[in-house]
Amino acid sequence: MFPKELFKIFSYIIFKNLAPIFRAKNDMIVSVKHRTSGGFGFHKLLIYTTSTNVSIVLRRTFKYRLYPTKDQVQILTHCLTTCRYLYNEMLEDHKNAYDRCGVGLNYNEQAGQLKYLNLGIYSQVAQDVLRRLDKAFQNFFRRVKNGENKAGYPRFQGNNRYDSFTYPQTGVKTKDGKLHLSKIGAIRIFQHREIVGKVKTCTIKQEGNQWYVCFSVELLDSEKKEINTSVGVDVGITTLVTLSDGTEIENPKTLDKYDSKIRKAHRNLSQKKKGSSNRNKQKIVLTGIYRKVRNARKDYLHKVSRILADAYDRIIFEDLQIKNMVKNHHLARSIHDASWSMLISLTTYKAEEAGGTVELVNPRNTSKQCSVCGCIQSMPLSQRTYRCPDCGAVVGRDHNAAINILNKHVPADCGELTPVEKGCMSNRYESGSPATCSGEEVTSP
Ligand SMILES: [Zn+2]
Repeated sequence: MFPKELFKIFSYIIFKNLAPIFRAKNDMIVSVKHRTSGGFGFHKLLIYTTSTNVSIVLRRTFKYRLYPTKDQVQILTHCLTTCRYLYNEMLEDHKNAYDRCGVGLNYNEQAGQLKYLNLGIYSQVAQDVLRRLDKAFQNFFRRVKNGENKAGYPRFQGNNRYDSFTYPQTGVKTKDGKLHLSKIGAIRIFQHREIVGKVKTCTIKQEGNQWYVCFSVELLDSEKKEINTSVGVDVGITTLVTLSDGTEIENPKTLDKYDSKIRKAHRNLSQKKKGSSNRNKQKIVLTGIYRKVRNARKDYLHKVSRILADAYDRIIFEDLQIKNMVKNHHLARSIHDASWSMLISLTTYKAEEAGGTVELVNPRNTSKQCSVCGCIQSMPLSQRTYRCPDCGAVVGRDHNAAINILNKHVPADCGELTPVEKGCMSNRYESGSPATCSGEEVTSP
C-alpha cells in the first residue's frame, strides 16, 4: 500500500518542479490506489522518464460541422439554455454573497451545490460552466489589480450571447461518422480531416442555425530546424503583406465585397418588430452573411500564412498594438477587416509545426526610417514612396518598412552592431556624411 503522506510529498515534488517546464515525450500516467479515511481514493501520478528529447506541448483546435436532426437541435438548444441559466444563477449568487456578506465565492464552493440542482445535463458540462464563471472573475480581479480603465465585471448572459458548452474530459467519442455525446446522443459529423494529437476538451458551438464541434488537442512541438531564410513582413491595408524581398500580396478587402449585402440585411432587421419570429429569422440571415465574410477572410489568410511558413524559416512581424490603432475611426474598419493578428497567429502555428519560428519586433520608426542609411524622416500615410533626402534611395513605402523590420531583428552572430549603425558605416564609406544618422527628424523635401 502506498502511504498517503509519502504520495503527497512525491507528487508535490514532481508537479512542482517539472510540470510547468517540460513534458517528456514518453511520459506515462500511473494510477495509484490508496485508502483514505472515507474509503478508497485514486490519484493519477505522472511519471516523467529521463528522455533527452524534451518537447513543449502545443495546443491546437480542430473544428467540424455537425448535422443534428430536428429533435437533436432541441436537445442541444435545451442544453445551451440550461448552461446559460446556470451561469446567470451562479453569477447572481456571487453578486449577492459579496453585496450582502462581503464574501467572495470560489469554484469549489459553487461546484458543491451542483448535486442539489436537477439540471438534466452532463455533470462535467455543468462544472465547466462554473469554471468559465470562475475564469471571468479571475480576469476581472486581474484587471482591477492592474488598474485598467474598464475592469469589466462579468456579464449576465443574454439569449444570443451564450453559444457553446464544453465536455472538459470525458463523455465524448467519435464512431462511424457520428459524434457520441453523453446525455445528448449520436450526432452526424462531417470530419473533413483527421484529428492529430491527444484530445483534451470538446466544445459544442452554435453559430446562427449551424452547429459545430471543436476539439482542443495537445501536440508535441516539432524539432526546430536550422534557420537559413529570414524575411521581414510589413502588413498594411492597400497591400495586405509586403515582404522584405519586395513581394507583395494584395488585400482581398472581404468586407467591401459583402458590404451591400450586409447593409441590406441590417436594414431589413431594423424594420422587423422586436421579439417577432420574422426578426429572429432575419437575425439568422445576418449571422449567415457575417459567417461567410469570416470564412472567406480566414480562407485567404490560411493561404497567405501557408505561403510564408513554407518559404521561410524565420518570419519577422511588427509587434502591432492593434487596440490603439483602431482608435483612428477612419481606419478601424479596414484594420479589422485586414485581420493582421489572425494572420500572425496562423503563420505562427504553421511555422512552428514546420520547425520554423515567428518573431515580433518593436514597430517604432519602421516606416519613417531609411532602410539604406538609417536616417529618419516623417512619412504621412498618403506618401507611398520613400525618398531618402540623405542617400537618395527610392523604395516603396511598405517595402522599405519590411526591410527595416528584417533589420531590426539582429541575429546573434552580428555582434554588437545594430542595423542602423551598420547602415551608417556603409553610408560613411559611400558618401561620407554620417551626421544625419543620429536619429534626428529630417523634414521631407
Ligand atoms: Zn537613406
